[in-house]
Amino acid sequence: MKIERMAVEGMNGERKDIDRMNIERIRADFPILNLQVSGKPLVYLDNAASSQMPQPVIDRIVRYQSQEHANIHRAVHHLSELATKEFEAARIKVQHFLKAKESREIIFTRGTTEAINLVMHGYGRAFIGKGDEIILSALEHHSNIVPWQMLAQEKGAVLRVIPMNDAGELLIDEFEALFNSKTKFLALSHVSNALGTVNPVKEMIAYAHHHGVPVLIDGAQAAPHLSLDVRDLDCDFYAFSGHKLCGPTGIGVLYGKAQLLEKMQPYQGGGDMILSVTFERTTYNVIPYKFEAGTPPIMAAIALGAAIDYLNGIGLSKIEAYEKELLDYATERVSALAGVRIIGTARKKAAVLSFEIKGVHPHDVGTILNEDGIAIRTGHHCAQPVMQRFKVPATARASFAFYNTKEEIDKLVDGIRKVQRMFI
Ligand code: PMP
Repeated sequence: MKIERMAVEGMNGERKDIDRMNIERIRADFPILNLQVSGKPLVYLDNAASSQMPQPVIDRIVRYQSQEHANIHRAVHHLSELATKEFEAARIKVQHFLKAKESREIIFTRGTTEAINLVMHGYGRAFIGKGDEIILSALEHHSNIVPWQMLAQEKGAVLRVIPMNDAGELLIDEFEALFNSKTKFLALSHVSNALGTVNPVKEMIAYAHHHGVPVLIDGAQAAPHLSLDVRDLDCDFYAFSGHKLCGPTGIGVLYGKAQLLEKMQPYQGGGDMILSVTFERTTYNVIPYKFEAGTPPIMAAIALGAAIDYLNGIGLSKIEAYEKELLDYATERVSALAGVRIIGTARKKAAVLSFEIKGVHPHDVGTILNEDGIAIRTGHHCAQPVMQRFKVPATARASFAFYNTKEEIDKLVDGIRKVQRMFI
């Protein structure tokens, strides 16, 4: 990926050299960005739901399916050995992407949702009991609420919720006050999908560990935007999804510290997760295979590895800096519009701009924007407690990726003005 160097004017007027991404070249890698929708060039601002796939990842899928496919781990023939080698190479790419210590700490799942459910079953059911407390935050996605609620119901455990302020920032004093001798687990998102808030997870993890409490981080919205280091964060578990990271659907990752994964119960039983089976007794396989029952999504895992190569080719720190510029620009332009309220104004945010237009239902906003080829998401974003906190039924949400441009944000602003002209 070509990166060009440009001199730009800094915010405070001084000139400074920064590396800028060559956006036109990057966009040329994404065939779908050439589409016309409703006769207009597609403006894809729904990246928090799922991001688009660049040609090298598409090519990797075609190569795998046309030259490498076979089931893995189970045969000595050429194709099976090749597919196994590529699948395991993808695991190592994920390990390096997360800066995990060992590749056996990387478990392939169907996505973030399955990764969280795996921890709920494998860790929660074994180590959380009656009267124990699980801490969640007020800005979680349903995927990081419902599994813990199911566990609480089954075990007689209790959910405690970290509240947030009107900007969508968690209240850290109240977070600390929730800990007591019954606290057994903290499940927390790194970045909120509905508000964009980046939580101070490193500090929160350290505080939980001070109380001996393990922590799962839902990284679905962080992995595509921030440079990650699970050892620096010191989280016990970290989950993310491939399809939000320019990879395919059907693949996700659970990172877990080896010593915790070793202690956990398998999530599903079946082939590959065993060492030996008799009708009396089964001996489970070593990690990570103990948690990968059945034929895994081989192609999707290999494509996720290719997506990670692609993102590394640009550089996550450059992506983070460029997306911050986009979000700042969008925030400035949208907040200047009369009758539009931005929902989620945390000091630290990533890639998400949720808003409401006074007097217009968000679904109407999405429908009108679609007429101009602009794809945003409207609804509760699988975060109904967030909607309840902000007393709205739904929001309109524009979410950005490194292939978006300021011109696309200008089109969004023009679209919002058009909606206001039509409805108000
Ligand atoms: N957590 C967060 C914060 C999310 O944004 C999402 C996806 N919207 C998920 C979890 C669930 O991810 P998936 O549907 O890929 O399992």
